Amino acid sequence: MKRRQFLGSLIATGGGLAMASSFPSILQAASLQNGKGKLGVALVGLGNYSAGQLAPALQQTEHCYLAGIVTGTPEKEQQWAEKYHIPQGNIYNYDNFDSIANNKDIDIVYVVLPNSMHAEYTIRAAQAGKHVICEKPMAIDVEDCHKMIDACNKAGKKLSIGYRLHFDPFHKKMMELGQQQVYGKLTQLSSGFAFVLRDPNAWRINKELSGGGPLVDLGIYCVQGSIYTAGELPVSITAKNTTKDKDFFRQVEGSLEWEMVFPSGYTSKCYTSYEDQANYLKAEAEKGTFELSSAFSYGGIQGKTPEGPMNLVAVNQQALQMDDFAICIKQDKATIVPGELGMRDVYLIEKIYEAAETGRPVMLQNIPRFL
Ligand code: NAD
Repeated sequence: MKRRQFLGSLIATGGGLAMASSFPSILQAASLQNGKGKLGVALVGLGNYSAGQLAPALQQTEHCYLAGIVTGTPEKEQQWAEKYHIPQGNIYNYDNFDSIANNKDIDIVYVVLPNSMHAEYTIRAAQAGKHVICEKPMAIDVEDCHKMIDACNKAGKKLSIGYRLHFDPFHKKMMELGQQQVYGKLTQLSSGFAFVLRDPNAWRINKELSGGGPLVDLGIYCVQGSIYTAGELPVSITAKNTTKDKDFFRQVEGSLEWEMVFPSGYTSKCYTSYEDQANYLKAEAEKGTFELSSAFSYGGIQGKTPEGPMNLVAVNQQALQMDDFAICIKQDKATIVPGELGMRDVYLIEKIYEAAETGRPVMLQNIPRFL
């Protein structure tokens, strides 16, 4: 019997399963080989994004499932265990987190904590022998991004950033239309993402926890959208802090505008704020305009081209993103949203802040090249 048939027959029979469970490497090899085994994901940090988006998405994924949780809030342990049928042995807190190394159910650790905690938990997860998805922004500076990439490389584990929009059909359409110059060369890009934040206790306006204001949280999508629509990296940046309520936004900016100049000569005008509403990605090309409104939302995106509405079917972005990463692990492929991409964006964010602080254009000479 050939190896593939042998493994297939092991999985197909109850006796095979019993035998395989006493030989985990055979079971693992079999599940990787037939591509059907679901990888276990542990969510670290059970705040709004985990509860509202990621855990529900993990009920729809085909290649991974919600296997464990890491939380500092004891009341959440029972609630989540009951709601998502999580065994007691797969529930961790921040103190015993490192013992997740011994848990064979957990293949992927998904870090969904305030931004300044991303580096520590990504590195600890890699050291525990787990693949990692880390939420955006990857870290609060480029130095931490390097450490995270190094830790995952050293552990031989994959690192991906929670960039859900790379898996959304409307954003893929923007990439296609812009990069293939379907309506001619780009002449101008513009993008804005903003919402109103008035909670004085929010970690998002505490610089130590957030690393920055709406730019790191929302504006990062405008940076990305401009780059993947253009298919080019910017060469210079100018920026202006346009915060209105300086009493409320003391540690981080409340609003920011910036312009990125691209090698082909056009600019991208971007805007982000915690004092306003905005949600658009617009590309102007020689033969017309194509754009998204509610561009960066989880759903309800509308797209328009010179030929009319983009007739695309909405997807669960997070489910596709996590399934794609699980497939990359199973098939040992590179993710399209790796740590290097997260680091590039953190680098650009640092340069946008530098341009806003100095009031002078910043030339981008050593940009981590990742498109
Ligand atoms: P949140 O405030 O709702 O949740 C944060 C979680 O971290 C909470 O469970 C909190 O208890 C825990 N935590 C642990 N230590 C903490 C500390 N010292 N201070 C505050 N909270 C602490 O935040 P969120 O909206 O879920 O965001 C979490 C991460 O996910 C952020 O990095 C954010 O940028 C990212 N996010 C990404 C998307 C996306 O679309 N990809 C959307 C929302 C949030």
